[in-house]
Amino acid sequence: MTTAFVALGSNLGDARGYVLGAFDALDRLPQTHLVERSPLYLTPPWGVLDQPAFVNAVARIDTALSPHDLLDALLRIEREAGRVRDGERWGPRTLDLDVLHMEGVTMSDDRLTLPHPRIAQRAFVLQPLNDLAPDLLLPGQGRVNDMLAAIDAAGCERLP
Ligand code: ATP
Ligand code: CA
Ligand code: CA
Repeated sequence: MTTAFVALGSNLGDARGYVLGAFDALDRLPQTHLVERSPLYLTPPWGVLDQPAFVNAVARIDTALSPHDLLDALLRIEREAGRVRDGERWGPRTLDLDVLHMEGVTMSDDRLTLPHPRIAQRAFVLQPLNDLAPDLLLPGQGRVNDMLAAIDAAGCERLP
């Protein structure tokens, strides 16, 4: 089993419900257990600013899936949540699931880059990731709590 961290995000429809449903869907994947779920955060949009706020969270899982099989499983869960890919980058979506990191894995090909390359700039990822793994060292990027301390996370509001 390999420990992995998955980022969850939604800003269309019942965003909170999509994120909570995705935690359960991760736990139901073959050869995979959901180990821990972060708190949920309400966060300002990133990249494309003219869209609703996001609900974001991070899951820690143990999985025997390969990196590509995990990615395929995440894309399937997104489709089942009604995600439509219209080509707009960083636009609104019912569900976005990114592999942030898999223990011991550093790779980049046309489908998958690990660790996820844009973690260091994203409070909506670093805040919930820091709740689960503040000391985690992301190869090539740094330690989670150091990266969080270096950016402005004031816009991330923890949901009850
Ligand atoms: P970002 O990757 O900046 O968060 P996004 O999540 O909006 O943007 P998507 O349109 O959801 O981007 O995904 C585009 C493609 O990114 C996916 O089809 C997948 O092949 C690729 N990808 C590369 N690395 C990863 C990763 N670590 N996790 C998820 N998808 C990845
Ligand atoms: Ca993403
Ligand atoms: Ca994605």
